[in-house]
Amino acid sequence: MSISEPAPTPVLHLNRTPAIGEVRQSPLSFVPGSKGWQQVAACRGIDAAVFFPEDENDDADIAKKICGHCPVAQPCLEYAITVREKDGVWGGATQRERRSIIRRRRRAAARQRSERELGSRN
Ligand code: SF4
Repeated sequence: MSISEPAPTPVLHLNRTPAIGEVRQSPLSFVPGSKGWQQVAACRGIDAAVFFPEDENDDADIAKKICGHCPVAQPCLEYAITVREKDGVWGGATQRERRSIIRRRRRAAARQRSERELGSRN
């Protein structure tokens, strides 16, 4: 980056817990110069606190509603699952829901493996 270019907005998807009082970026805030699904995210410009409620299980409705209209909810969810994002609502899913998705996928993969193994023995 040259000196004349503005510094990019802080990195998206910080996989860390912010310090108390730290202003969070929206989970998918716009980064000048970046391309891709983040630029059409329904959460662009919305207060990130909406996506990081104190109690995800009780206060995630607004975020989920926004995600429900987001054209990139699937890649967002896959991103959060891939990086094991610990906080917030991503792709319309809370951390607990993402863990549940991961467990289901693991079980399905294990089932497929055992079916393949059984098939190769016959
Ligand atoms: S699914 Fe939700 S968190 Fe993800 S980009 Fe869309 S609005 Fe933002």
